[in-house]
Amino acid sequence: MDLDLTEDEKDIRQWVRTFVEKEILPLEQDVLARERRGERGLPPEELKRLQDLARESGFFGVQTPEEYGGMGLSAVMAALVEVELGRSFVPFRFGGYADNILFHANDAQKEEYLVPTIEGTKKSCFAITEPGAGSDARAIRTSAKQDGDDWVITGEKTFITGGTEADFVMVFAVTDAEKHKEGRTGESVTCFIVDRDQGWTSDQIDTMGEWGPAALTFDGVRVPSSAILGEEGKGFALAMQWIGRGRYLLPARALGGCERMVEMGMEWARNRETFGKPIAERQAIQWMVADSAVDIEALRWLVLAAAWQVDRGDDSRQAQSMAKLYGGVHCNEIVDRMLQVHGGMGYTRELPLERWYRELRLLRIYEGTDEIQRRTIARNLLKGHASVRGHLGLDHRRRDRGGRAVGRRALVRRGRSPTRAARASEAAGVDV
Ligand SMILES: Cc1cc2nc3c(=O)[nH]c(=O)nc-3n(C[C@H](O)[C@H](O)[C@H](O)COP(=O)(O)OP(=O)(O)OC[C@H]3O[C@@H](n4cnc5c(N)ncnc54)[C@H](O)[C@@H]3O)c2cc1C
Repeated sequence: MDLDLTEDEKDIRQWVRTFVEKEILPLEQDVLARERRGERGLPPEELKRLQDLARESGFFGVQTPEEYGGMGLSAVMAALVEVELGRSFVPFRFGGYADNILFHANDAQKEEYLVPTIEGTKKSCFAITEPGAGSDARAIRTSAKQDGDDWVITGEKTFITGGTEADFVMVFAVTDAEKHKEGRTGESVTCFIVDRDQGWTSDQIDTMGEWGPAALTFDGVRVPSSAILGEEGKGFALAMQWIGRGRYLLPARALGGCERMVEMGMEWARNRETFGKPIAERQAIQWMVADSAVDIEALRWLVLAAAWQVDRGDDSRQAQSMAKLYGGVHCNEIVDRMLQVHGGMGYTRELPLERWYRELRLLRIYEGTDEIQRRTIARNLLKGHASVRGHLGLDHRRRDRGGRAVGRRALVRRGRSPTRAARASEAAGVDV
């Protein structure tokens, strides 16, 4: 079993590490100061300058396929990149990203939305949550009624990230009320791509974090049939695909922040003296450091195991839910401990700990709350779709004649029937 990275992979990670040290960390004080004045921490022009700089070195579209100008990196590499970026709270991300479901667009939509999103000339947002439908996304009520060749969308969406700046929204609406009532969500919901100038409006929602999502209002917004993304009635599967696109990446980013906070905590503990000794010599403080280091290491392996399953083409949803849940719970414990190590200083706005404290709280809520991840994990186990005995040495895939392992997707492509484990794993996807 070789868990090491290739030389190329090590080079990529080192490049990101250096980029963060040289270009991102020096911006932290300015970002904090702006945020504390109620301004955007990283203004769009500054973000673009950094993205252009990275692009000059070929860093663009981390997971975007090469045919679209991206790097097409593996999930494991994408996770490692997120860990490095997460070491700073500066809200930077590399350019060249587009929502995974936009790759399902037809050619005309790709030209109008996908390519400009990758190039950064258009901004998207994804809207499924409604005031009455969050965890229970099947309860959405926004409707789209057909009128000739047009559809008329009416309803309200809430907590939409990027909703204030987006040029267009991928909005999910009920197009078959009868089927929806019968619970046939797989046939009743459609995704529409709607430009802001087609008539939807947004209102920013203040939150305890620095990034306010928005409430969107659709008051009889008329769009042509060509606005449908994918197929009519098949939108719910797209929504689940978007939500499940990279659950391992959220805890990966949080993990980078936790590494940094523990380093800050240790530095503080070595230098802060009470009762004649550095607090680093007190067992109470040492235990906080030790428990945090163990949590970080456990999370690292959960994240990498999930990413590795994505790269193999296995059904990774159970592993991704575990990484997301563990990250949400334990990163919040770590930031709390490290704030505690800093005493009163940890609570001030001179240090970024209180910012991380507020930001990390979101990890337990969005893209599937802790409770929903637990529900998924337990259901998959109780139904027998997953096991507590782990994956190691259990090959979920068949091998071809040359002895190469064949992933689930590859099996489907080659028209062979999946193994029992792969079928069970596929069925496990009922809960996302
Ligand atoms: C900052 C932010 C950004 C967001 N960005 C987006 C976005 O871009 N697009 C989008 O569509 N949505 C977005 N969301 C919405 C987010 O996904 C939902 O808030 C989340 O899914 C929870 O839904 P809810 O808020 O309605 O809570 P509810 O579903 O009402 O849940 C309330 C509580 O009940 C618990 N609960 C619910 N059901 C169960 C159950 N069966 N068993 C046990 N406990 C349960 C939940 O875990 C939670 O603790 C965002 C939210 C926030 C806060």
